Amino acid sequence: MSDCIFCRIVAGNLPCWKVWEDALVLAFLDINPVAEGHTLVIPKAHARDITGMTREDLAAVTAALARIAPVVTDLVGAEGFNLLNNCGCVAGQVVEHVHFHIIPRKEADGRGYRWITSTYPEGRGDQLAARIAGALS
Ligand code: AMP
Ligand code: ZN
Repeated sequence: MSDCIFCRIVAGNLPCWKVWEDALVLAFLDINPVAEGHTLVIPKAHARDITGMTREDLAAVTAALARIAPVVTDLVGAEGFNLLNNCGCVAGQVVEHVHFHIIPRKEADGRGYRWITSTYPEGRGDQLAARIAGALS
């Protein structure tokens, strides 16, 4: 897609700090890193989000994440990493070419990561799980 910035990067029409690629996947540094080494991993084929990816691309991107994340983490002297995929603008997706963030994390790095959690009222977990399982069957 010519109006997609990540497709333009894949095509070589926009520069990036490439860290790895194979036939299906490209990985490059995020231009506005949350932490040093913040890396984006994308399928070369355009898809808006994971629901539009082929199984082959999903497998290739997942394998790339598992390979790249620990290498980047070690290299920047981090102790762990967040893997993040924002799916849909309400979830924070800005670039509409599916991408997975690898964000290296260090003790007391001040980046934080805390969801606002809740609990299910009595019976709601049973009901909801059954409905979702039914929709998936
Ligand atoms: P998201 O909010 O999940 O859609 O994240 C989009 C990410 O893409 C942000 O972290 C941006 O900093 C990053 N980004 C946008 N344009 C570029 C670019 N040209 N090269 C590298 N990263 C980019
Ligand atoms: Zn694209």
